[in-house]
Amino acid sequence: MSASRRRPGTGTSSTWSGCSCSCPSTGGEPDALTRTRYPRVSPLAAALKCRCPRCGEGRLYKGFLSVSDRCEVCGLALARGDSGDGPAVFLTFILGFTVVPVALWVAMSVDWPLWLHAVVWTVVILGLALGMLRPAKAYLMALQFRHRASEYDIPETPESRADPRN
Ligand SMILES: [Zn+2]
Repeated sequence: MSASRRRPGTGTSSTWSGCSCSCPSTGGEPDALTRTRYPRVSPLAAALKCRCPRCGEGRLYKGFLSVSDRCEVCGLALARGDSGDGPAVFLTFILGFTVVPVALWVAMSVDWPLWLHAVVWTVVILGLALGMLRPAKAYLMALQFRHRASEYDIPETPESRADPRN
């Protein structure tokens, strides 16, 4: 149904300018409030440092790839972000398309025994994959926060702001 045929007060409108929730702490559009309260953080910078996508200061991970429940600085519900299989898929393609040609070029250029190729390329692939997995996951989560921040938003209360673990 087009917007011109829709009765007033039904469905969504292109002139919608507020949050339909009744949370008093946000008082309307959560994205606008987030932008005014926190400086814009570069997704790449946050990813390289593995920091919170909103404030850029709190640690994103509590383990190697386990995302913290909340940011210890700004209280953002980090566990609500979900990068899915994206980081692994991107790294599979990126490393496959870069390391395999290099391995083939080395195999044609030098006369290594097969066992040495197996050891070298296993170490290279594992090292690059494990080294890039945390920043890749952090980057996808930061992009998700930048473009779909509402998925991270929960109503903030003075208590949750004072104690980010709530
Ligand atoms: Zn934060």
